This record gives sequence, C-alpha cells and structure tokens, in this order.
Amino acid sequence: MKFGTKAIHAGLEPDEATGAIMTPIYQTSTYVQEAVGKHKGYAYSRSQNPTRHALEQNIAALENARFGACFGSGVAAIDCLIKMLKPGDEVISTNDLYGGSYRLFTSIFAQYGIKFHFVDMSDTQEVEAHVNANTKLIWVETPTNPMMNIIDIKAMAAVAKKANCMLGVDNTFATPYLQNPIDLGADVVMHSATKYLGGHSDVVMGALVTDDEAIAKEMYRIQNSSGAVTAPMDSFLVLRGIKTLHLRMEAHCNNGEAIAEFLAQHPKVDKVYWPGFESHPNHAIAKAQMRGFGGMISFSLKGNKLEDAHAVLAKMKVFALAESLGGVESLCGHPATMTHAAIPKVEREKAGIVDSLIRLSVGIEDAEDLIADIEQALA
Ligand SMILES: *Cc1c(COP(=O)(O)O)cnc(C)c1O
Repeated sequence: MKFGTKAIHAGLEPDEATGAIMTPIYQTSTYVQEAVGKHKGYAYSRSQNPTRHALEQNIAALENARFGACFGSGVAAIDCLIKMLKPGDEVISTNDLYGGSYRLFTSIFAQYGIKFHFVDMSDTQEVEAHVNANTKLIWVETPTNPMMNIIDIKAMAAVAKKANCMLGVDNTFATPYLQNPIDLGADVVMHSATKYLGGHSDVVMGALVTDDEAIAKEMYRIQNSSGAVTAPMDSFLVLRGIKTLHLRMEAHCNNGEAIAEFLAQHPKVDKVYWPGFESHPNHAIAKAQMRGFGGMISFSLKGNKLEDAHAVLAKMKVFALAESLGGVESLCGHPATMTHAAIPKVEREKAGIVDSLIRLSVGIEDAEDLIADIEQALA
C-alpha cells in the first residue's frame, strides 16, 4: 500500500459492534471479563485501549514497522526508550538537540548513572570516537532543531551496528511522509505526535515505533509499568490528523520552499537554514534520505542582535509567536530565549543558535500571505 492509503486505512477496521467507520473513542478505564482472565484482549486501559491500539498500529505502519506505542508526550516516549538502559550505560546524542530532550537526558537520567555525550553528528568519526563498550544507544535527530542540520541515518546505522548498540531516530521534523529511518537501518523511531502527526495543535502526544521484537517487548513493558500512556480522546484526534498527513506535508513543503527562497534574497537576512538549498552543507544526504524538505526554516539577521529578532517577531501577524511546530497554522519563535533556553549559552552557540536566530514553522496557509507577513515584519 502507498502512503496516503496507509495513512487513512492502516490498523483501522470498522467498529465490530456498530459498523462505525471511524474508530470510536473508547473512553473507558476497564473492560468486563467473561470469566477470570478471559477477556477480548483488553483488561485495563493503561495496558491497552482500543482507540490507542488502532493509532499505535497506524503509526507503526507509516514507519514500515510492526510495533508502535503511544505516550502522553514526545518526551515520555523518549523517557521510555532511555529506561531500556541501565546505570553505567552511555548514549551518544547529537549536540543540536531538541531542548526538552536535552533536559530529560541531563537533569533526569544523568542522575541515575546514564552518561550522555553530545557530539557533532555530521562528523561520523567524531561519533565513532565516543563509542566504547558501554555505548548502548546512538540518538539522532534529523533534520535538527533549530539548525536544520541533516544527519546521515545510514552512516549512523553502520556505526551502531559496529558498536552493537541501538540506533534511535527522532523523526518528528521529517514525519514518516518524508523519511523512514527504520528503512535506513534505525532500530527505533520516535515522534512527538504533538507536531505534524496530530497536525492541528490540539494534542500533546508521543510515539515509539520499532520492528525489533525484543525492543518492542521492552517498550510495552515500560509503557505499562511507567504508565505514561495517552488518552482515548487524544488517540482519536491524532488518528484523525494522520488521515491528511500526506496532503498537509505537501503543502508544508511547497510553502517552506517559497519562504526559504524569499528569505535567502532579503537584504536584512544573514543566513537561512533549510535543507532544500543546494548550498546547504548536507543537501546531498537530505536528498538521499528524505522525499521532501519540510516546512521548518531558521534564519538569522544581519548584525545578529537579540533585540532585532524580538522586534521582528513582535511585528508578525499571520505567524503566531508560540512554542511548538507542525500545525496547519504558521508559528514563529526565538530558540535562544524560548525552546532552547534550557541549553547553556556556550552549548547553544557551539551549535549555531545565535541571538538573532528566528525559527519558523511554516503552516499551510497561502504562501503569498505568509511572505507578505514576513516582508512587513522585516521592514
Ligand atoms: C516537540 C518535540 C519533542 C518533544 O515532544 P513533546 O510532545 O513536546 O513532549 C521531541 N523532539 C522534537 C524534535 C520535538 O520537536
């Protein structure tokens, strides 16, 4: 089955009781058992719920894998993955990392004896240099947030294989429509479904997907034991969002391209970070592993002043100043003082997150209106 058909049908069956074509919201905590231990596959909704189950099957299918698990947020999904590790284990992570992931690693898991290395993953040798006998996970985010660096998933899969450790990929920015890490050698894929999968800025949710039975067993054990599950209503909303994922992503990609090109020729703009440019340092890898370049763009201003960035953001009208991304509406933000404020300034600047950097989540409004909005804000 091709992507659009899977998005609409995978994992979904008409409701057995009524024929309802849409998966019902099974707003129930428990299930009546015929006899002790004899039930229809559902005993308690932390362990499993039919609406959540349909969504987990659907997301797994979109990543060309068999096992999916949904969580109360994206960071709860990453939390589940890191809980597969033990004290003394080490993780090699990209240095250009989502702020919440960085905080989870450094302020929660580091105190339980898990060691994290943050490295420049565009340099495969740099990653290999950090591998040792304790390395259990290589954690990739690509495109990265907010610098839109592209990490070569196949190259990281080769390093992970040699190191005999897991490769996990945060696929939130690309979505399964543009990139399938498991097909490129990853063991686990993570999504903040809050973003493009949900797509309508009305849900907070995370997902893990794997095609490895041993990892899946651990994933479900931890999901049930730690209990950071997602609710039936939210599962329904994300199922509904995914039905248009392919259409939305096409629109995000088209608008993203138009805006990146507009920014690149603007006299007040210093640098534009978008993997679709041929001049992007990792354009060739992006082209090889992605089917489109998405709607996430960052740019810096000439003079690199924090006040200038704040002034531009204050003048935006169609673009809303807000955290998050991936919804139908366009958002703008200031990584240094918003999403990446948790990362120390030195670390931030090492990754290129300068004071004038502005991040756009380009929505699916009309490109002309979005460009006019940026034009008046920059003027
Ligand atoms: C938002 C985000 C997360 C965290 O997801 P939540 O749903 O906010 O917990 C992780 N990774 C990336 C790339 C994100 O954008």
